[in-house]
Amino acid sequence: MTIVDRLTGAKEAIALRARDCGREPGEITLVCVTKTFPAEAVVPLLEAGHRVFGENKVQEARAKWGPLRAVYPGVELHLIGPLQSNKAREAVETFDVIESVDRPKIAKALADEMKRQGKSPRLLVQVNTGAEPQKAGVLPQEADAFIKECRERYGLRIAGLMCVPPVDQQASPHFALLAEIAARNGLGELSMGMSADYELAIQQGATHVRIGSAIMGERDYSKG
Ligand SMILES: *Cc1c(COP(=O)(O)O)cnc(C)c1O
Repeated sequence: MTIVDRLTGAKEAIALRARDCGREPGEITLVCVTKTFPAEAVVPLLEAGHRVFGENKVQEARAKWGPLRAVYPGVELHLIGPLQSNKAREAVETFDVIESVDRPKIAKALADEMKRQGKSPRLLVQVNTGAEPQKAGVLPQEADAFIKECRERYGLRIAGLMCVPPVDQQASPHFALLAEIAARNGLGELSMGMSADYELAIQQGATHVRIGSAIMGERDYSKG
């Protein structure tokens, strides 16, 4: 199976699962996660017409996607990894969607940069649904206040929420929690579900699924 076969397979699985739960396949966007893979590995997907991609590092994304974007217009690039405030400028320059807004310092840095650059990437707040100490994201019990602060203090328009459930737990309660926080804050976008659990996430309301290894193959971190 080629990478393009696996992309097609994932799109079919998304459409099937969506219809199974009474949703329109078009409500769900496949974000293909290409972190650690070189530009050459991504080209077949672009040639096949796919345009929505996710990267977790600002520098890697800039190096890889600058040249690719020059050839393939219409790419929508998502930042799905943690963001440092000193990278806010490059993040706003590079990404169309920033899924990892998780603290006031980042919110302020993004607000300042968006004003300076006259650019408005779509913003998602990352929620650390499992309250894991090593993981990025605002704690669930602090999410409402943080979303309010983003809106009222920093004038940011928040489009939705993102989460990465703990690897050793059932994802379902985490997806449910994220959906609940989104609903009570009037947020429409839910970025949840990865290679192992995207069908479940669709069932629980995901609007964006972030799929890496199921399309790209196993990642080799030794080179990065
Ligand atoms: C790497 C990554 C993914 C993709 O994970 P797979 O299991 O390879 O599909 C999704 N979301 C985030 C935040 C990631 O860092």
